[in-house]
Amino acid sequence: MLSWISKRAMSELRKNELLSSYEAVKATVDSYVKGCGRNDVSLLPVSKLKPASDIQLLYDHGLRSFGENYVQELISKAEILPKDIRWHFIGGLQTNKCKDLAKVENLYAVETIDSLKKAKKLNEARAKLHPQANKILCNVQINTSEEAQKSGLSDEKEIFEVVQFMLSDEATNIELGGLMTIGSWDVSHSETEENHDFAVLCQWKKKIDDKFSTDLKLSMGMSSDFKQAINQGTSQVRIGTDIFGTRPSRAEASI
Ligand SMILES: *Cc1c(COP(=O)(O)O)cnc(C)c1O
Repeated sequence: MLSWISKRAMSELRKNELLSSYEAVKATVDSYVKGCGRNDVSLLPVSKLKPASDIQLLYDHGLRSFGENYVQELISKAEILPKDIRWHFIGGLQTNKCKDLAKVENLYAVETIDSLKKAKKLNEARAKLHPQANKILCNVQINTSEEAQKSGLSDEKEIFEVVQFMLSDEATNIELGGLMTIGSWDVSHSETEENHDFAVLCQWKKKIDDKFSTDLKLSMGMSSDFKQAINQGTSQVRIGTDIFGTRPSRAEASI
């Protein structure tokens, strides 16, 4: 058993560590953003598999948006953490989990919509469960690396269908925010100036903006490749490891 004093001391240590890595990442992101003459890139801390106490520390530091990957983990954290957190779901989404996700009243964004069916399910569930809440901001996830194991759409017809639905009057409780991609590990760890997968996402943005008169935002860039993502025009980078440190396995993680 830890004594009361050492628990406090541990928490103070964690606070110092977490805030300093967050501030370092924020400064790096800001300098890249400035370096390419922009001012409109947001930093989403990805807190998956990290304890709610970490999120609370960053919340107390003024942060309000966090990214999570697992539906049940997001639900559990949302229950115990402040209600003005803007949760972003960024994990693989199953159709039968759309309803559970829609229950979280302060769910702000779902960044991984990769089928018309899921878009419809999420909209329908939100309309039923929280008709007065904010419309959930949705990104269409694109598989830019054409890897079979990656989720996301790459077929033009399907992509246009989802976009069309999100822009239609039928989408009463969700709205289109933009496009999201992860990209391949190999590409993100190569030293090239330009990331091929991010370039593909930019091409999709152009195609969709031209066809639907939208101005879609892009969500791309993680700890290993956020510099390229900023250079290539992202609106948001999603960063976990560089802020929170390495993650425990799912079996070892506790909320
Ligand atoms: C885990 C995850 C991140 C954060 O990745 P890091 O490499 O830890 O920064 C970003 N986006 C998605 C979709 C993720 O699953």
